Amino acid sequence: KSFRELGICEELAMACESLGWKNPSKIQLEAIPHALQGNDLIGLAQTGSGKTGAFALPILNALLEFNKAFFACVLSPTRELAIQIAEQFSALGSGVGVKCAVLVGGIDVKQQAIALAKRPHIVVATPGRLMDHLTNTKGFHLRDIKYLVLDEADRLLNDDFEKTIDEILKDIPEERKTYLFSATMTSKLTINIKSVSAVNLNCKL
Ligand code: AMP
Repeated sequence: KSFRELGICEELAMACESLGWKNPSKIQLEAIPHALQGNDLIGLAQTGSGKTGAFALPILNALLEFNKAFFACVLSPTRELAIQIAEQFSALGSGVGVKCAVLVGGIDVKQQAIALAKRPHIVVATPGRLMDHLTNTKGFHLRDIKYLVLDEADRLLNDDFEKTIDEILKDIPEERKTYLFSATMTSKLTINIKSVSAVNLNCKL
């Protein structure tokens, strides 16, 4: 099946083509139709599987319909992964004017606050720096977010991050969609998915 046949809009299908993505990967084939139906997702998939596209494409597809700032928040356990995720969102969405902000440690907080003031559609962040901005950056909040992604969720929901994530979740509306991607499945992950409509996708390479 093609991206178009999965329900991805023409602009994004063309963006996939220009990135050289000829056909959806296995996790994309599995995840995208469920996501477009409005389900939450739990995806078991590793780096290299195309998992970023599996959550970025449904989010961008919805964003093109609703065109709202602070539409999605993507959490990553590492700076490097956060930057890679933002690059894929930008590569897929730049042609249609999608703005992305990256909030990670080791980079000037003020510069990131300026990026937030431009009202990005997508915020990609590591938990600690996101919490810093929620506490200290005037006017910034996640109370209107429609999509929450936990990437490498097994690493995000370990003891180091869990308290910070609990704090972040207090600012995110309950009615958002949740997409959780992980290389391994742990009991903690399933506890953290509250929605009963979540679709469990096992797409290990
Ligand atoms: P990820 O697993 O999301 O880190 O993606 C790994 C790499 O696969 C990235 O460089 C993507 O650009 C690429 N990729 C994602 N989806 C596809 C696809 N459908 N066809 C070809 N390459 C892809």
